[in-house]
Amino acid sequence: MKESYLVLLLGTNLGDRISNLTIAKSKLEEFLGSIEISSKIYQTSAWGKTDQNAFLNQIVVINYTGYCLTALDRILSIEAELGRIRNEKWGERVIDIDILFFGDRIISESRLQVPHPYLHLRNFTLQPLKEIGEQWVHPKLGKTIVELCCECPDTLAVEIFDF
Ligand code: ADP
Ligand code: MG
Repeated sequence: MKESYLVLLLGTNLGDRISNLTIAKSKLEEFLGSIEISSKIYQTSAWGKTDQNAFLNQIVVINYTGYCLTALDRILSIEAELGRIRNEKWGERVIDIDILFFGDRIISESRLQVPHPYLHLRNFTLQPLKEIGEQWVHPKLGKTIVELCCECPDTLAVEIFDF
C-alpha cells in the first residue's frame, strides 16, 4: 500500500444515510485531501439489534501526507459537525469515521490505534476492503486482506447496497 494512503471506514445508520455519506466525503476532501479510491456502499443488517436501522458502510482512501493525529482531529470534527446538524432532528450520531490503515504505519497511542484494532474481526470492514485492496498486507498481522477474510469468524451478511 502507498505510504500516503489513509484508509477510512465510513458508517451510518440514521436519517438519510446516503446523504450522510455524501456530506462526510465532501468534508473529508475539503479538510484532508482528495479521495483516490472509494469502495461500493455496503449494507449490514443490525443483526441481534433489531431495534436499529441497518448500517451502510463505505471505504474511502485519501491521499494524505500529514500527521495521523491531525487527521484524527479533523475526522472527529467532521463527525461532530454532521452529528450536530442531524442531532436536532434525530438525537443520535449519524456518522462514524474510523481510520483503518495509514500506509504501513503501526500507531499505538491512547487515543489512536492504527491499524484499527477490530478491522480483521468484522465482515463489514473486510468485505469493502477486499473490493479495493485484496492484496494489501496488514502490517501488524502480516496477512493479506483475502487471508483475513477467510479467517474472519464474523458471519454477519454484508451486501452491496443498490440505490
Ligand atoms: P467506535 O468507532 O468504536 O464506535 P468512536 O467513533 O466513538 O467509537 O471513537 C472513539 C475514539 O476512538 C475516538 O475518539 C478515537 O480517539 C479513538 N480511536 C482509536 N483508534 C482509532 C482509529 N483507528 N480510528 C478512529 N478512532 C480511533
Ligand atoms: Mg469511530
